[in-house]
Amino acid sequence: MNRLTSKLPKVGTTIFTVMSQLAMKHGAMNLGQGFPDFAVPPELVDALERAMRAGHNQYAPMTGIPALRQAIAAKTEALYGHPVDADTEVTVTSGATEAIFATVHALIRAGDEVIVLDPCYDCYEPAIELAGATAVHVPLTDPGFRPDWERIEAAVSPRTRMIIVNTPHNPCGSAFEPGDLDALAALAERHGLWVISDEVYEHIAFGEHGHQSVLRHPGLAARSLVVSSFGKTFHCTGWKVGYCIAPADLSAEFRKVHQYLTFCTFNPAQHALAEMLDQHPEHYRSLPDFYRDKRDRFRDALAASAFGLPSVDGSYFQLVDYSAISDRDDMAFCRWLVEEQGVAAIPLSPFYAEPPAGQRLIRLCFAKDDATLDAAAAKLCAIAPGSG
Ligand code: PMP
Ligand code: GLN
Repeated sequence: MNRLTSKLPKVGTTIFTVMSQLAMKHGAMNLGQGFPDFAVPPELVDALERAMRAGHNQYAPMTGIPALRQAIAAKTEALYGHPVDADTEVTVTSGATEAIFATVHALIRAGDEVIVLDPCYDCYEPAIELAGATAVHVPLTDPGFRPDWERIEAAVSPRTRMIIVNTPHNPCGSAFEPGDLDALAALAERHGLWVISDEVYEHIAFGEHGHQSVLRHPGLAARSLVVSSFGKTFHCTGWKVGYCIAPADLSAEFRKVHQYLTFCTFNPAQHALAEMLDQHPEHYRSLPDFYRDKRDRFRDALAASAFGLPSVDGSYFQLVDYSAISDRDDMAFCRWLVEEQGVAAIPLSPFYAEPPAGQRLIRLCFAKDDATLDAAAAKLCAIAPGSG
């Protein structure tokens, strides 16, 4: 019999699942795993029900229903000024996770290298490793978890094929500034790299220049696969519907993997989301203000706490620095916080190949009802310096 050796020896249960289970076990408030605790827009639920009753319950087209691809293309052009061909450049996927996996497997071969920026979202490296390739980790730098483009360029080797970027950033809440697009474009062009741009928080960007999609930059758009997720935009992380926008030649390769990974995505939701994008653009247009208010409410409520509060330029995550409270490492601190203080958070170290020594940061999700945010902040404010 074959001996079983894991293809993913480093992978265990994700930190999001671990912390959600601990939150449940200890009856804690769950500000760990990133998901909203408020309802999806009622129009979306109505549209989903109508789609199912109208009989949209069989396989959807492999690339996504035309109405949704067209709505995505129209939104993208309106927001980022980049014309997108709905037929050849947009593919609807079963969440951003599927899109990222399919993208890596469409383009990356055994022995290739892919640059990722730490702390990085957990699904990138397993996809790279299953392709037989290697993730080359380059840290984002302080202050503010910014890409250091010179340092990134120094990590490029003759085997490097791709770089994966994420803006707005999970877990750090940082976001690209306009100059970052030029720097990334120059680097990708000099070394012939493809770019996966994980933009699932594209509608949750707070900076004065708005979300810096790579699609704003024509040179970058020509070599990028941009991944987004309706889970974040419409408060429905459990629906797992997302999309990938890429030039026609890259999309054609992407679709070869998508076709045999899932073939197609939940059909009724595609009809409902197409209707929402067309008829309620105010929903995604007002999302930055909606989440800015939550961010500010949460930060104001935590101002009196012993936690340090790095700035948040996008996403629905607030990092907090607990060095005034405890010298435990972040895993131990999160355990203490959920068991003794009734609040679940996410430690930062699992997002790194090599966590920086002495870093005392954890992630809190503020995609929560105001009452939940106030109650969680009250618990966090009650934690005295040095008590952990
Ligand atoms: N990328 C990032 C940065 C994310 O935060 C998430 C989900 N939290 C995903 C990808 C995956 O999105 P989906 O749930 O649509 O697969
Ligand atoms: N992306 C979510 C987060 O960052 C978690 C998704 C998951 O549990 N896989 O919290």
